[in-house]
Amino acid sequence: MPSVPAGALEDHVAAIFEAAGSPPDEARTVAAHLVGANLRGHDSHGVIRVPGYVALAKDGVLRPGAPTTIARESGATALIDGGMNLGPVVAIRATEIAIAKAREAGVAFVSCFNTGHIGRVGAYGEQAVAAGLGAMGGVNSPGVRLTAAFGGGHRRTGTNPLMIALPSGDPAKPFVLDMATSVIAEGKLKVAVNRNTPVPPGDIIDGDGRPTTDARDFYGTGDNPKPGALLPVGGPVGGYKGFGLNLAIELLSGALSGSGTAVEGARGTNGVWLIAFDLGRFTEPEAWREMYEALAAHVTEPPYAPGHDEVLLAGEPERCRMAERLASGIPLDDETLRQLEETAAGLGVPAMAAG
Ligand code: NAD
Repeated sequence: MPSVPAGALEDHVAAIFEAAGSPPDEARTVAAHLVGANLRGHDSHGVIRVPGYVALAKDGVLRPGAPTTIARESGATALIDGGMNLGPVVAIRATEIAIAKAREAGVAFVSCFNTGHIGRVGAYGEQAVAAGLGAMGGVNSPGVRLTAAFGGGHRRTGTNPLMIALPSGDPAKPFVLDMATSVIAEGKLKVAVNRNTPVPPGDIIDGDGRPTTDARDFYGTGDNPKPGALLPVGGPVGGYKGFGLNLAIELLSGALSGSGTAVEGARGTNGVWLIAFDLGRFTEPEAWREMYEALAAHVTEPPYAPGHDEVLLAGEPERCRMAERLASGIPLDDETLRQLEETAAGLGVPAMAAG
């Protein structure tokens, strides 16, 4: 698989979004967000999304450059209208608003509607942590049905990620839990189809509710022509817990913001909720740091289970992958690259220089 330096890929993607109508600074914001997801190993939420975002802009569903406005506001809350701009632009602005309010009030809860797909939700947690705060949040995808209810045989809700981000003693190493409440994110199935690789047992069912490892069965393009479903986190046995989380996030994201739920809503969008809070209203930074480090040491110490030689904390796998990919480039499979260049060519943007 060819690898592309992150900077060259970001420049290329920024040129594509600019050609699709985004102002240069917003085109750069979206490109940096997507390439940032690739850098952290989340190829499912990286540049593989460019063709989809551009198609929605061409269809007039997304409106590049639209302003983000506050529809309703109180001291610690804001309901934010993203104007149907690209999601990362809106979500970064929404997080800025949450940060400003949490610094004043100690805590802030923001909710967004009319917002394109915001990509990797952990990025906004990292933004809050970099501002010295903690954060939690999540998104739903109105009108989208991908995940089965626990015990259900068909797609019912989105993959509805949950994010919790907390500072550690080291500003470069925050705790960033950022997880789909389906066993895997749907984008990882797209990656598996593009790469022609199987998915682990217990992740998906086919169109007849039967377990399968062929990602094409999810899309109805494998042996079974009926589209299958992702299982909620916890899988075939403990999936009732994931189902509960998934539904809570569907409500907090889609019903609270008015964006809509899996029942009905504008495709290509995310309903968003984000809470930012000031840890300093509860504890001293030094006391937090000491407790964090003691707990981290406690849970990561050996012995390890067979087949494991370490225990990682949430956020660490992404940091390891980023160090590798900053050094050696971002691997892009042929199909993702082909679709990216097809999108670029359609907008008159020259292809990335080879090598
Ligand atoms: P994942 O399963 O790769 O990781 C989930 C979490 O587990 C992360 O916080 C990670 O740091 C942690 N983790 C991973 N391996 C670990 C290990 N060995 N030990 C300890 N912790 C570990 O992520 P995912 O659930 O596939 O989600 C991928 C991305 O998709 C996320 O960034 C999410 O925000 C994004 N997403 C976005 C949308 C949307 O509509 N915008 C929808 C779904 C998912």
